[in-house]
Amino acid sequence: MFSTAQQTLSPAKALHFITQNAAQVDYDGAFPTAEFERLRQAKLMSITLPHQPLASSKAQTSRLLQLLKAIGKASLPVGRVYEGHVNALLLIELYATTQQQQQWFNDAANQHLFGVWNTQAQDGVRLHDLGNGRYRLEGCKTFCSGAGHVNRPVITADWVSPQHKGWQMCVLPLERLAQATIDRDFWKPLGMRASASFKVDFTGLEITDDELLGPPDAYYRQPYFSGGAIRFAAVQLGGAEAVLEATHQILRETKRIEDPFQRARVAEMTYLIESGNLWLKQAGKKNDKWAQQPQNTDKLLAYANMTRTVIEDVCLRCMQLAERSVGSRGLIRPQALERVHRDLTTYLRQPAPDATLIAIGEYVLNQETTQKLWHVAK
Ligand SMILES: Cc1cc2nc3c(=O)[nH]c(=O)nc-3n(C[C@H](O)[C@H](O)[C@H](O)COP(=O)(O)OP(=O)(O)OC[C@H]3O[C@@H](n4cnc5c(N)ncnc54)[C@H](O)[C@@H]3O)c2cc1C
Repeated sequence: MFSTAQQTLSPAKALHFITQNAAQVDYDGAFPTAEFERLRQAKLMSITLPHQPLASSKAQTSRLLQLLKAIGKASLPVGRVYEGHVNALLLIELYATTQQQQQWFNDAANQHLFGVWNTQAQDGVRLHDLGNGRYRLEGCKTFCSGAGHVNRPVITADWVSPQHKGWQMCVLPLERLAQATIDRDFWKPLGMRASASFKVDFTGLEITDDELLGPPDAYYRQPYFSGGAIRFAAVQLGGAEAVLEATHQILRETKRIEDPFQRARVAEMTYLIESGNLWLKQAGKKNDKWAQQPQNTDKLLAYANMTRTVIEDVCLRCMQLAERSVGSRGLIRPQALERVHRDLTTYLRQPAPDATLIAIGEYVLNQETTQKLWHVAK
């Protein structure tokens, strides 16, 4: 939870602090608490709530993607946790009852950090129906970003009940979350240390009807489930921008800017990143249009899948170009590039990249022709 002091801060100052502090929280078990305090002071923790500047009803997805990219550029772990918060609030907007929305939006406006914990291993979470609107959780989630700091996680669970079947979202209240067991040893990653993506065991926690979010399987409803990939892609592209920034700085400091090979590599990184920016801009616009048109759900998903795939390639290529430009000296701590490279390498690993690529091809081949593939009707 954040402090209750009502200080305000400009988003630019918050981002500056996050950039400057990123190296200080680059250790196992760390969490960027001071960074989230700054984001709260800059009013960015509530900016997507209804009636706020980036509310989903205002169709401002491109601006939201720019914000996610800017936070990712400042720090990929902060960007990861922030994206989870935004995602959870969107799920609540889509699926919660009016009463639940009142409570949880109020919580978000008053200091609480949300997240979405869906990933699990063999010992995944099951939701036992105890009758009379009471339920007991059993099992674990892996990669729970912000565990121990997120105090309103949306978690998913498989129903064990005579009445219900499927994949159920729940929003866990803080007082019951305290009984969960966090396995911090799970998270000894190459990068993204400060995302605190621990394993959490929820066995024995009891919840009620008030804490169930939406009907079973709502979590996987499209276009919201796969379409959300453009948000993590935006954070990742921020990482690529940080790689370019660090490379640029090192080359200038070492006075290696006259060399044609260095110029060629920087040129390639720059146009790749700008391509990523154009993809994000288009993806945001098309998302806002097609999300309102159920007949265009498949088109929206194919476009989101392309955006995510292109941006992964952009990031991978930029890291390779940066390595060749700066050489081994540039990949040693405390160079920012050493950390950003590890963070981006880790954060690029997102679910089902192969299936994503295949789905794009499937969509295109299922069209009668390739004319007007991404046409937006007026
Ligand atoms: C820093 C970080 C933070 C995260 N935070 C969260 C969080 O807060 N909440 C959350 O829910 N999740 C979180 N995750 C998990 C994330 O959403 C993905 O689930 C996870 O990163 C998938 O990674 P993977 O590469 O191991 O996936 P895998 O699915 O194992 O993919 C690895 C490779 O195997 C391929 N593959 C996948 N399935 C099959 C198959 N059946 N047969 C053959 N090949 C296959 C893939 O295409 C890919 O090439 C986080 C991950 C990271 C890295």
